[in-house]
Amino acid sequence: MTQVLRSRAELRAALASVPRPVGLVPTMGWLHDGHRSLIRRARADNPTVVTTIFVNPRQFSQAQDFTKYPRNEVRDVAICADEGVDIVWAPPADEVYVPGFDTLVSVGAIALPLEGAARPGHFDGVATVVAILFGLVGAEHAYFGQKDAQQVMVIRRMARDLALPTEVITCPIVREPDGLALSSRNVHLSLAERAAAPVLRQALLAACRKWGAGERSGDALRATMRAALTAVPLAQPEYVSVADGLTLRELDRIDGPALLSVAVRFGSTRLIDNELLEA
Ligand code: AMP
Repeated sequence: MTQVLRSRAELRAALASVPRPVGLVPTMGWLHDGHRSLIRRARADNPTVVTTIFVNPRQFSQAQDFTKYPRNEVRDVAICADEGVDIVWAPPADEVYVPGFDTLVSVGAIALPLEGAARPGHFDGVATVVAILFGLVGAEHAYFGQKDAQQVMVIRRMARDLALPTEVITCPIVREPDGLALSSRNVHLSLAERAAAPVLRQALLAACRKWGAGERSGDALRATMRAALTAVPLAQPEYVSVADGLTLRELDRIDGPALLSVAVRFGSTRLIDNELLEA
């Protein structure tokens, strides 16, 4: 039986007597197979699974993006029930940010480039809400998608630095058959934009192939990705990056683990994708 809870108090009470370990899957809802894969991994690892559904206003820099974010709680709860989630926590905003809430969790250098530069304040919002969820749920394990590669790095940094007892586990990117990474935002794509959107993956794979053939210049791989993206008229690249896999600093030469990542706009919809290069 899946319980749907709203308040901090109900959640705390329910968690007091559950079998351990607890696996936590934080989401913003509009669940898809990417979220399902996280829940399945949590289900396999833990006798108790908690999924949270909360569209976190503090991680959106534009009010419009927050308002337009897709929501369907009834459907989301049905998916959680189907996946055997024990507890869904779907709180109103004032149960997350309690009256008088006045704390910001701000991670340093790793949160500055890429998504941090494109979306000022985004990772402060993410780190703050995840710190609240870690504190409330007290899970042994929490599951995040590699789809948001920098996000999971920021959360790992926060959890280590603050000695939070929740272990962060990264799950692989789930994709459509044509390579487009699943995202709640895909619903906003027009038919033509949806048809063009696999170019993110194609651009990343083109750079991967060059790397596989021995190319080690960051600029060469960035140029490869940019060329693939600009060949598609509907795609407006926001950034293409070849960064150090640990620090996210842009690389001149690749001589260790690297993260290829892209952010691309299709009209008002912004998509991201990435690929890890490991020897
Ligand atoms: P969101 O609801 O977009 O905040 O995402 C909740 C979690 O699901 C995050 O840890 C995401 O990285 C993860 N996620 C989103 N899309 C995918 C995907 N296509 N594959 C794997 N994980 C994903």
